[in-house]
Amino acid sequence: MLQENYSQVEARIRAACERAGRSRSEVTLIAVSKTKPASMIEEIYSYGQRDFGENKVQELTEKYDVLPADIRWHLIGHLQRNKVKYIVDKACLIHSVDSLRLAQAIQEQAEKKGVTVPVLIEVNVAGEESKFGVSVEEAPALAEEIAKLGNLSLQGLMTIAPYVPDPEDNRDIFRQLKKLSVDIAAKNIDNVTMNILSMGMTNDYEVAVEEGATLVRVGTGIFGERDYSREK
Ligand SMILES: *Cc1c(COP(=O)(O)O)cnc(C)c1O
Repeated sequence: MLQENYSQVEARIRAACERAGRSRSEVTLIAVSKTKPASMIEEIYSYGQRDFGENKVQELTEKYDVLPADIRWHLIGHLQRNKVKYIVDKACLIHSVDSLRLAQAIQEQAEKKGVTVPVLIEVNVAGEESKFGVSVEEAPALAEEIAKLGNLSLQGLMTIAPYVPDPEDNRDIFRQLKKLSVDIAAKNIDNVTMNILSMGMTNDYEVAVEEGATLVRVGTGIFGERDYSREK
């Protein structure tokens, strides 16, 4: 089942790239493995997948310790400041920076460990109350502040679009994030690039690819439905 799912996602990304006149190499698939066991990750790994996404610090570090060292672990979920120390040298990219205080906490720990941490700003484009992320209006100022933190490398933007029955309804959200990244890039801020757009999940990744996503985060489409019933 996993192999079939995986090749179907791959085929759909390829088709979306073609529709948009983009090269497949511009888009990286992140297999979102939260709640899924190491054995399933190993299977997807055996098909050549190297980018995996987790939304919890503890789960990411546990899997990091037992799975192959060449896996690139993406932290895609909300990050609490007191957990930063466990993750700064394990995540290849933190997608969810949504405040200056969090960025400063990352700076402090990164400096201690002597690493530079690639990060994205999470933008709540749709302005949903239930979601983390800064507003479109707040993002440029946060980018300017993060730029001053020497152990952070701001590389782009991330958004979690609303769940909508028709993914077409999220096209405008993705366009807005793309436009925001172009606007921030135009400021030519030192130590800031806007090469990464992390957008699109199982329900809407094809639309996101058409609108310029460079990272898509697909969980259910690869691993199947998640079972949260055993969670404390
Ligand atoms: C869980 C999660 C995903 C993957 O969601 P699916 O709908 O299962 O593809 C993507 N991004 C974030 C931030 C997530 O927490």
